[in-house]
Amino acid sequence: MKSLREYLWFNTSKKKEFINITPQVEEIVKKSRVKEGLCLVNAMHITASVFINDAESGLLQDFENWLENLAPHEPISRYRHNLTGEDNGDAHLKRTIMGREVVVAITNGKLDFGPWEQIFYGEFDGQRRKRVLVKIIGE
Ligand code: ZN
Repeated sequence: MKSLREYLWFNTSKKKEFINITPQVEEIVKKSRVKEGLCLVNAMHITASVFINDAESGLLQDFENWLENLAPHEPISRYRHNLTGEDNGDAHLKRTIMGREVVVAITNGKLDFGPWEQIFYGEFDGQRRKRVLVKIIGE
């Protein structure tokens, strides 16, 4: 069995951001030379997500608005977590609902997506260095 483990690094300019990371993941799949296998992509931080959806700007704005309605950043005092002196209680909740990781099948050397599927990094407490793990296993 072949395997490959790599990090993608992010330091977003905004506190909240969605980044399409499909091209970077495809590069790592190519580098692994795995033809049949699995590709795991997971955020290594508890205030960031990895998820799969449509690369459509209106939808990404809808996600942002929906998350802000579910867990508004302010007032900061509404979150018990922020009693620790942090201000990212909302980011932990947003991360949980958008998910930690995705697993995509690799078929014939390529990510085996459904129609319109793309992999996104979701940042909810950015402007600092964070990483995403990509682990590929297969033959
Ligand atoms: Zn926190």
